[in-house]
Amino acid sequence: MSNITETNIYEEVEQLAIEKGYELVLLVGEIKEQAAGSHEVDEENKKIKITINNEYKDDLSVGVHELLHAKLFLTGFPKTRTYYHASQTSLNSVGRRALVEIENIAQHTIIYPEIINLGYSQRKLDLVYFEGVKNEIDTVFSGLNKLGRAFRLLECYYRLPEEFATIEKDINEKQNAEYGLFRKMKRLLSKTGTPKEMRKAMGSMIKLVEEVVKKETGSQLYLRYFTTLNPYFNEYQLKQKASKIVSAIKFNEYPDIFLINKEDDICVTFIRGDSISYDRYKNLLEEKTLKEILSM
Ligand SMILES: [Zn+2]
Repeated sequence: MSNITETNIYEEVEQLAIEKGYELVLLVGEIKEQAAGSHEVDEENKKIKITINNEYKDDLSVGVHELLHAKLFLTGFPKTRTYYHASQTSLNSVGRRALVEIENIAQHTIIYPEIINLGYSQRKLDLVYFEGVKNEIDTVFSGLNKLGRAFRLLECYYRLPEEFATIEKDINEKQNAEYGLFRKMKRLLSKTGTPKEMRKAMGSMIKLVEEVVKKETGSQLYLRYFTTLNPYFNEYQLKQKASKIVSAIKFNEYPDIFLINKEDDICVTFIRGDSISYDRYKNLLEEKTLKEILSM
């Protein structure tokens, strides 16, 4: 096994984890979908699990990449959390996959430059990714596969901006719809430096995906309600009457209540319907401050 545990970034992330009461677990083994590495945050059991694919166990950049994902989580960058009854919801596999892509790519806007800053390089892996994108330039996709490709263009751009520039014109000509989506998403992700900016960018991405899915399939995903993104309310907002800042909604087919941030129309948290009635909860929003509601 490589000496990833001896790197500064490992020490830093391990320290952050300890401060937040998390256990950092590092494994080398098999990963599905042949990814070089993966990370998993288990908020319930306070565990962050990083797995490095056997094949890449000597490539430090893989571990560094996953550690940087963990670092973003531990320093308060937003994480999507899916509604627990999601298996019965319209949040189908398309929605889930899109959420994973959005969170990953948004974080990659910070991670790829940071890997280089820290003196590591993922170039070998990135070039393989670039070749993949280049090889499908002449392939025509339809429906939601266009969305998938737009995500790949974005990922390719963040990995290797210079190489991407050499095929950009060709992509624009041959995959005009995907290229248009790519440009939009790139604009939405142009500011991600702080947790609050990242939330805004991810929220806009979620809404864009809803729009594309609606257009391509006619179905409304309500992705913005079936997932939550960490809210960043300021002191002033926390002291306000809750109903000024948030609202509660309910879908007939589900027992639970969705607390929505009025400012961006994205879910803040889910409230179990068996713990309080919808009417009672709505009354509480009128009576209590936002801070009181959030600490319930
Ligand atoms: Zn990643």
